[in-house]
Amino acid sequence: MKRFTAYFFILMLCGIRVDALEIVYPKSDNVTINSESTFFIGNENPEKELFINSQKVNVHSSGGFLHPVKLNVGENVFNIGNLEYKITRNAAADYDLQVKEVLYKEPTVYFTAKENTPLWATPYTHGLNRLQHLGKDVPLKVIGEFGDFYKVQLARDDYAWVLVGDVVKSDEAVSIAKIESFVYNEEPDKRVFTLKLNKEVPYILSESNGLDLVVYNVAGYPEDKYEFHINKTGKLFGYKSYYKNNSELVIEVKNHPSKFEGLNITLDAGHGGSEVGAIGCLGDKEKDVNLAITLKLKNILAQAGANVYLTRDDDSTVGLYDRVKLSQKNDSDIFISIHNNALPDSQAFSERSGASVFYFYPQSKELGKKILEQLVKIGMCDDKVRRESFAVVRNTESLAVLVEVGYMIVPEDSAKITDEEFQLKAAEAIKQGLENYFNEL
Ligand SMILES: [Zn+2]
Repeated sequence: MKRFTAYFFILMLCGIRVDALEIVYPKSDNVTINSESTFFIGNENPEKELFINSQKVNVHSSGGFLHPVKLNVGENVFNIGNLEYKITRNAAADYDLQVKEVLYKEPTVYFTAKENTPLWATPYTHGLNRLQHLGKDVPLKVIGEFGDFYKVQLARDDYAWVLVGDVVKSDEAVSIAKIESFVYNEEPDKRVFTLKLNKEVPYILSESNGLDLVVYNVAGYPEDKYEFHINKTGKLFGYKSYYKNNSELVIEVKNHPSKFEGLNITLDAGHGGSEVGAIGCLGDKEKDVNLAITLKLKNILAQAGANVYLTRDDDSTVGLYDRVKLSQKNDSDIFISIHNNALPDSQAFSERSGASVFYFYPQSKELGKKILEQLVKIGMCDDKVRRESFAVVRNTESLAVLVEVGYMIVPEDSAKITDEEFQLKAAEAIKQGLENYFNEL
C-alpha cells in the first residue's frame, strides 16, 4: 500500500497522469439525474481513443474531456472504455396547480422578523424578483396570501410579496405614516439624506440615473406614496439605506474615490473548506483554483497601492453572508468574488465556455464589462456580463462583481486556469479591468 502511494506521488510530481480512465462526473455509477441531458467529465490518456456508446470523445491534450449525452426517461446505460454507467431519469412531477391567490376581508399588520428581509415583485423566490431588502420590525400591510407568500399592499396600486416565514403578525391597527422633515448633509466621503417620519414604513430604493426612492403608506401624497430622486454626482460607487431611531430613513450615497491608491478592495476566493465548488476534468477542485488566483490578485493590487482584504487566505469554510459582512466592515469600495464555472446537467449541450462576470445592482455592471474585456484579451471566450442574484454581489455598499475566470469542466479552460502562469495573467487582467474602469471616472 505504502509503495503504491509513493509510486503515485512520484508520478504526480513528474506531472505525469496515472494512465487510467477517470470519470469525475457523474460522481458514481447508478445515479438519478432528472434532466434531459447530462455530461461525462473526466480524463484519459490523450493518446488513447475513448468512446461513449460508440461515440468518439474529444480528449484534450491535457487529458481532460467533457462529453454531453441525452437522457431518456427511465434507465440509460452508457459504456465508456471498459466501464458501464447507469443513469436513471424520472418523469417530471406534475406541478401543483392548486395554489390560488386568497384575499383577506380585512388587512392585517405584519412586522418583518429579521434584518435583510426581501420584498418580492411576484410570489416566487427567483433572484431577480427582489424589490428591496428591509430591516427588522418594518410594518407591512398584508391583504392576502399565495402559497408560501403574503401579499403586501404598498400603495393604492402597488403590491409586493413577502415570505410567510419572514414576518410576524402584530395586533397593531393599519395606519398611515407622516413625513415630518427632510435633512440633507454633505460629508467628506458621502452625501446623507434623512427623511424623518413618525414611524417606519416600507420603501423601495432603486438605481436609475442616480437613485429613486419611493416611501409607502405616507399621508399627504397621491396614492399615499412619496417619491424622491437623488441625482448622481459622477458614477454611483456604493450606497446604503437604513432606519435610525425607529423612524428616520437614512440614505447614504458614497462619493466616488478620486484615486486608485488607497482604495479598499475585498477579494473573495469562492468556496473553501468543506465547500469544494466545481470539480474540473482533471480532478482539480474549484476552491483551490479560486484561492490561487485570488492570492495572486491580492499581491498585484497591493503593489498598486490598494488596501486589500481577503475573505479567506487558506482552505477554510466561510459563510456567504460573512463574506459580505466582512466587505462592509472594511468599508470596501470594491468587492470581487473569484470563481470558476460549471454547468447544470440541463445545459450539457450549451457549449458555453470562457469567462463571465456577474453583478446584481446596476452600479456594478460597467466594472464587470471592463474586467471581462481584459479576460477576453488573454484568450478566454466571452461568456458575457450577466445579472444574477448571487448573495455575495447582493450588496449595495460597494461595487460588487463575481468573476468566473473559466469553466472547470471545459478541457480548454481547465488546462488554462490550473496553470500558475495563466493564473497570474488572469489576475493581471482583472487588475487592468479595474484600472480601466477607474480611469474613466
Ligand atoms: Zn463557484
